[in-house]
Amino acid sequence: MFEALFSQTGAVLDELVPPVCQFCGSPSGRGRLCRGCLSYFSYDLSLGAEKAKRVPSADGVWWLWPYQRAGRLVRRVKFGGDWHLRGLIRERTERILLEQGDLLGSVDAVTFVPMHWLKRVVFRPGNLAQWWARTLAEMLESHLVELFEVRFWKPELHRLKNKSERRKTIRGAFSLKNGSFRRFRQSGGKAVLLVDDIITTGTTLESLTRLLKDADPDLIVKVFCICG
Ligand SMILES: [Zn+2]
Repeated sequence: MFEALFSQTGAVLDELVPPVCQFCGSPSGRGRLCRGCLSYFSYDLSLGAEKAKRVPSADGVWWLWPYQRAGRLVRRVKFGGDWHLRGLIRERTERILLEQGDLLGSVDAVTFVPMHWLKRVVFRPGNLAQWWARTLAEMLESHLVELFEVRFWKPELHRLKNKSERRKTIRGAFSLKNGSFRRFRQSGGKAVLLVDDIITTGTTLESLTRLLKDADPDLIVKVFCICG
């Protein structure tokens, strides 16, 4: 009886407030995304070779979507305050990981690109990379570990497009949290998944991968981003 009541209530609600796509706002039927956005946010395997080039020290590099496709989504969450869209990222990530089977292989811990406190104050309240790392750790039944700290932040970095200029600017900006790293290795950790929201030139991710590899060349480092 309750079920019948609920489904009736649902039908009435749909009539009064037709469900709309979370992303583009067009009528979506019963799903959370409209058909167009659903196909738009499916996994894109076509960029394989390019990915490896961006973070040469890593043992594998993946991202869910090309920047042209998902950049707007990520920017809306990061800068537009559309926090509810994180639900969409979570849902699609879960679906894609399920569809792609063993995409990432075995992972003992998930870590993320940290954000300097000043950047947090100036730009935005939360670190999307940290949220995504936590989400992935849950999905993969792995652990979230904070392996890095930020020593300084240079606001001009995001304006620099040139890879060698970026590399110079970023030098020394991050360091390894030695205690966390030692505990991770002592607990038998062999493979770590390093995540960020957007990968552009890959300079930051490359420098963090190198910190890990310098500390232990046998460690497997895989990189995973929302878009690139
Ligand atoms: Zn849509």
